[in-house]
Amino acid sequence: MPILVTGSAGRVGSKVVQRLLDQGHAVTGFDLRSSTINHRQYREIIGSFDDRASAAEAAEGASAILHLGAFMSWLPSDADKLHRANVDGTRILLEQAARVKPERVLFASSGEVYPENVPDYLPVDEDHPLKPRSPYGLTKLLGEELVRFFERTSGIPATILRFSHTQDAAELLDPASFFSGPRFFLHPKIRQQEGLGNTAAVGRLRAIDDGRESLVVSCNENGRPFKMHITDTRDMVDGILLALDNPKAAGRTYNLGATAPVDFAEALALMANLTNLPLKTVDLPGSGVFYETSNARIREELGFAPQWTIDRMIAEAAAARAARAKVA
Ligand code: NAD
Repeated sequence: MPILVTGSAGRVGSKVVQRLLDQGHAVTGFDLRSSTINHRQYREIIGSFDDRASAAEAAEGASAILHLGAFMSWLPSDADKLHRANVDGTRILLEQAARVKPERVLFASSGEVYPENVPDYLPVDEDHPLKPRSPYGLTKLLGEELVRFFERTSGIPATILRFSHTQDAAELLDPASFFSGPRFFLHPKIRQQEGLGNTAAVGRLRAIDDGRESLVVSCNENGRPFKMHITDTRDMVDGILLALDNPKAAGRTYNLGATAPVDFAEALALMANLTNLPLKTVDLPGSGVFYETSNARIREELGFAPQWTIDRMIAEAAAARAARAKVA
């Protein structure tokens, strides 16, 4: 019987599919886009989560459902699309789950349900109050409620994983990366802040721009460098498969991410060192990003042991950047 993986063309989902296939499982992928995976044990349904016919076809015969796909956007204009994909889509997929009765459902939530950016206390653990501030974080919290409702009414055990920010290591030093470009590179950051209408931030960023491609350490208005978790996709895949395989994970909620948060001043100094890119620093308006999330529960209960420290990820990112430059 196949395992259904949604978001199968995505960063995390595609690697979960590959690992399950390597372990000998049959897998069904379900995504708006096709993945490049070609395997005799793999079938793919192309469609939207909120399309009942596609969801029914995807869920057919599933022994487990890993709902890893979602739409991620922080643009106010995307609010309707977010709710259709992440709330209606999750509800419709779970209706199908109740029909086909898999042994387990696993749901990819997010640290934005707390939200980690505005914590009541640190480190953020699973008992932290849930008070999302972004429409995206709200859709993840509603998704969690739908999953627990499904579990209560169907008797099928579910596991919620609150994902850390996740990147493929090679994305970290790619200015075109959706997340890492604006996070670490000056010009993409200016474009992002312009798009979000943050004129004060744009002014401060423009003031340090000398036209060269540069890395930038973001600090808050008091000069405190940002700090947050950035987890390698490979560690996320390990955590997801542990949660799928371990009966102890049934009914549980876990933070899933790297053990130590990333100090932006330290990480960017290493990036600059390995790339010879100029390094700038900017104090942005507001309290900035500064959090630490505890992964103690998943380490203690399921034996999660992340392998990819930020230094290892940056070393791989620098090698990938050098390889891209050679090809160009
Ligand atoms: P991704 O964007 O690489 O993959 C998500 C996939 O979902 C994409 O392939 C996309 O086509 C698909 N998708 C979106 N809307 C869809 C719809 N309506 N119907 C069918 N498919 C749809 O994201 P990722 O980094 O692999 O993230 C995996 C999960 O982790 C998501 O649920 C995301 O919300 C969550 N998450 C990610 C991060 C992160 O930093 N990457 C952080 C916290 C939580």
